[in-house]
Amino acid sequence: MDIILKNATVADEDAPEGLVDIAIEGERIVAVEANIGAEAGEVIDCEGRLVSASLIDPHVHLDAALSVAAARPNQTGTLLEGIAIWSEFMPKLTKEDIKHRARQAIDWEVAQGVGFIRTHVDSCDERMIGLEAMLEVKDEVKDRADIQIVAFPQNCICSFPNGEALLRRALDMGADVVGGIPHNETTRDAGVASMRLVFAEADERGLLVDVHCDETDDSASRFAEVMAEETIKRGLGSRITASHCVAMHSYENAYALKLIGWLQRAGLNVIANPFDNLILQAREDTYPKRRGITRVKELLQAGVNVSFGHDSIMDPWYPLGRGDMLETASLGLHACQMSGVAEIDSCFDMISWRAAKTLSLEDYGVRPGANADLVVFDGYSKAEVLRLGPARTHVFKRGKLVAQTEPARSEVMGDPVSFRPAT
Ligand SMILES: [Zn+2]
Repeated sequence: MDIILKNATVADEDAPEGLVDIAIEGERIVAVEANIGAEAGEVIDCEGRLVSASLIDPHVHLDAALSVAAARPNQTGTLLEGIAIWSEFMPKLTKEDIKHRARQAIDWEVAQGVGFIRTHVDSCDERMIGLEAMLEVKDEVKDRADIQIVAFPQNCICSFPNGEALLRRALDMGADVVGGIPHNETTRDAGVASMRLVFAEADERGLLVDVHCDETDDSASRFAEVMAEETIKRGLGSRITASHCVAMHSYENAYALKLIGWLQRAGLNVIANPFDNLILQAREDTYPKRRGITRVKELLQAGVNVSFGHDSIMDPWYPLGRGDMLETASLGLHACQMSGVAEIDSCFDMISWRAAKTLSLEDYGVRPGANADLVVFDGYSKAEVLRLGPARTHVFKRGKLVAQTEPARSEVMGDPVSFRPAT
């Protein structure tokens, strides 16, 4: 064996009970069982700490990440001003600038246990430098993170000059996933037409789909139903993802329940983005003020696969954030009122194995035969790591250590009550 992680508490879809050892040989996990006696080049005693497969950020915009200081400040903090700032800022961007910021954001995420990232890249750009930059970055960071690139038509497909051709060009260049933004198209008909086009391209090219869907408080925005219909008609199932779906928080219950049934039957995935959804939605409300995040709890209860994304990291839409998926899941937990014991655990699942299903990852998990993409937390359970956001002490990518963090230690002077946090 090359590495053995001893005495680990495993977080996974089908995690073993009790403490186990995880043996790694080369790029793969070869055994997950108690008391592995074999010799190993390196032995790390986890002393009961939580170990999971890599965390996943299934929805982020790396071409815009960390641009908040360079772009015009967003005075209102709204989604629409964010889009306007981005449109003004984009022509000034250089490929090197995008690459530098994206690599910084990726390294922040890697240091915090992320091994897989799906990034949307604005494809409404004749220069296509965002996509060029991200394709290069994807290759440059492949030793520590796997990147999926979504061709994201920020300014629409049907309602933007040359929008269809730009999307096809981005797909020709090598994007992995077809994106869309139907609620921003001029009319309902244009939105529906854009979805037909997205699904046809994905189906023909064998690509995945991830659409910014109904990211609006407008309860008349109903494109998730179009995605469900296309998914069923074409039999694409889990290859399809509807991101945001925030209008669902404003649908009347009768329609929302019918829709959730169709999303479940379609087998598509939903991604909620707590930072951006909470900060950007319901801006026109006075009080009572809507939460602006989709019905995560109800979707999960109905059997729909849901995951959480970071979405923005210090960009014109959200000036804060540090690329920590535990913080993302904790915010989602609070916003969706998922404080039941099993619900807390499921919030961790939404940044790990549930997000792996969304990204159609193979060889993911803590089991023999899976890639050794692992993270060791300085905490002892899913609930504890969500509560504390502790150091990710060891981060492995295909059997190689790619990041490590020393836990911070505090000392209280005087006569403190010494305690170890309850697990
Ligand atoms: Zn987004």
